[in-house]
Amino acid sequence: MEAPHRPIAVREFAVPDLPPCAALLRTSFSEVCGTDVHLWHGRLSGVPYPIIPGHVSAGVLDRVRGDIEGVDGSALKEGDRVVFFDVHRTCGRCRACTVHRTPTRCSARRVYGITDSATEGLFGGWSEFVYLEPGVGIARLPDTISFESYIGGGCGLLTAVHILERAALRPGDTVLVQGTGAVGLSAIALARLGGASTIFAIGAPQERLDLAKRMGADVTFDLDATTVPERLELLRARTHGEGAAVVIEAAGSARAIEEGVALVRDGGRYVIAGHYTDVGPSTLNAHRDINRKHLEIRGCWGSEVGHFLRAISLLERHAARVPWHEIGGRRYGLQSLNEALEDAAAMRITKALVDPWGRGT
Ligand SMILES: [Zn+2]
Ligand SMILES: [Zn+2]
Repeated sequence: MEAPHRPIAVREFAVPDLPPCAALLRTSFSEVCGTDVHLWHGRLSGVPYPIIPGHVSAGVLDRVRGDIEGVDGSALKEGDRVVFFDVHRTCGRCRACTVHRTPTRCSARRVYGITDSATEGLFGGWSEFVYLEPGVGIARLPDTISFESYIGGGCGLLTAVHILERAALRPGDTVLVQGTGAVGLSAIALARLGGASTIFAIGAPQERLDLAKRMGADVTFDLDATTVPERLELLRARTHGEGAAVVIEAAGSARAIEEGVALVRDGGRYVIAGHYTDVGPSTLNAHRDINRKHLEIRGCWGSEVGHFLRAISLLERHAARVPWHEIGGRRYGLQSLNEALEDAAAMRITKALVDPWGRGT
């Protein structure tokens, strides 16, 4: 991706020389997610174009230099099926890392496929090989987890693990998820596994609402076929007139925030995770929406290596029954990435699988 709004170009890179403790991943799959569409539309600041997009990827270790360990401490070797945590170079020494314990706000942090420039090498998954520099968090992918399930969950699942942590869900809580993209769908699945009672989801189009049900939602509201007052009334009718104990915003629209504060019950929690880009201000009435309501609003930015490991554990235990693999719809080869971005931008697919060695489906 040479610059925003430009067609994706296919380029050849030299095979990198590996320093000690580095590895080369032969990419099996990467993804095209909402972030890639934002990158393509130039909506993220500080991106060092040209970049090789594809921040969450999976594959097989092609070459390893020296002894390297996975994040669980076990030795990794060539031929292992692995995944890696896309966030790297988190410093562990700054105030964000140590004093505030918010490593996702560390200013040294970099992300494969997003804040790593292609001028530095193979730092993205839309590529036949990915360079895993020393210090990157690598984990062996259990044999029971297919690449399709891992990428189907992908970044959305890691984000959802963080969201559920922020939501501090209690057994029996009602939950409403705004948005049925990759983040919202995984949040629904984790709320179900985490002991929610009734789970509501607002989204579109109908195929995604159907998938939301298979992920664990009980009641879905079609964003395009219902109005804001109708959804509030329908929710209250099923929650003792109160609204949901926990509302999770994974929609990314300023209007969703205005609706969300009304959907959460008095004394409830509202986790905002969908505003990855600046979509402008939302209008709230502090008295009515926050103060008198005794509302708790929590932001959620990025994910930590612990969320990456928890996501793998969740997939290992539950991917046979929770259809994460269905989130990744079509496969695209390197020659059809422009089409993949257009399909993702038009919401024809929730997430595209990038198959750098294949021609797509
Ligand atoms: Zn730091
Ligand atoms: Zn992503």
